[in-house]
Amino acid sequence: MLEADVLINRPERVEISPGAHIFLTIPRLHRLRGGMRTNPFVVAAFSEGEQCLKLVMRVRDGFTKSLVELTQCEEASSLSTTSPGEEQALQIPASIFLPSQAPFPNLLQYTRVLFIGGGVGGSFCVPWVKYLHAQPPTGTTVRFVWSVSDPLETHWAFSELKDAALRNFTSSLELHVTSTRGARERGEAELELLPRAKNEIPSSILAGNVRYSRPILSLVLEQELHACMEGDDMAVLVCGPEGMTADVREAVGRTIDNRKGVGVWYWEESFGY
Ligand SMILES: Cc1cc2nc3c(=O)[nH]c(=O)nc-3n(C[C@H](O)[C@H](O)[C@H](O)COP(=O)(O)OP(=O)(O)OC[C@H]3O[C@@H](n4cnc5c(N)ncnc54)[C@H](O)[C@@H]3O)c2cc1C
Repeated sequence: MLEADVLINRPERVEISPGAHIFLTIPRLHRLRGGMRTNPFVVAAFSEGEQCLKLVMRVRDGFTKSLVELTQCEEASSLSTTSPGEEQALQIPASIFLPSQAPFPNLLQYTRVLFIGGGVGGSFCVPWVKYLHAQPPTGTTVRFVWSVSDPLETHWAFSELKDAALRNFTSSLELHVTSTRGARERGEAELELLPRAKNEIPSSILAGNVRYSRPILSLVLEQELHACMEGDDMAVLVCGPEGMTADVREAVGRTIDNRKGVGVWYWEESFGY
């Protein structure tokens, strides 16, 4: 996983809504590798004040891999100019294109809003969950089921959160850690071996909201439906691997069949083409 903070230096101030994505181009990479490519990434966090957006990238075999290699080269060369122990943020010129975003309904009009994220798909859900909690309360219940193979994949989501914002975010979050299946049988012992994860994921999270199993998505949808009364509306937004979105799509289909007067709005954010 690669985390990148992009400082926007445009004369006019930029506003970015939750769930937005940008197209990223790194001219240096294209000079090195030839051929101009631009790749889309969701804005995982945006600080309006600093005009800085965060991208969380799963490293694959093309552009993302080249970007990692470029940062490693930069790190190597910056080592020669920085004194020992001195941290120096790597700065690589980039250009971003912010396409117009799909119109989303006002999710705070729904009785219940369910976000389901798989791995890096959390980068679509997290800004939404934080945004909804930052709005004046309307009685909407926000639930976020996030399935990851490694708890380290989530620490960026907590990095800026404090106090009420952290409490609100964790109150919605159900974190499913799937690859430490062995650890689950041996209790949480395994996590002890991941001090960095433990230090970066607030203990409150580790305590209450972590499950060492895959989420049963059909059960999650059923629970949401049962928590609704006739005339209520629920929104379901999913972003994750194809298998996960297919399971959610199927479960939502069944929910709609059994909905007993509950309105269902469904959104699928896909990262592939
Ligand atoms: C709207 C949107 C938002 C996304 N947000 C994120 C994100 O926040 N974090 C993240 O890790 N990934 C995100 N992705 C996927 C990400 O764009 C690709 O994984 C990345 O571009 C792959 O780059 P690569 O060259 O290293 O991959 P490669 O190894 O060359 O390709 C692997 C796969 O990535 C996909 N891909 C490659 N290039 C593109 C491209 N230009 N446009 C779309 N898909 C491409 C294809 O499915 C391809 O099969 C998003 C994709 C979309 C469409």
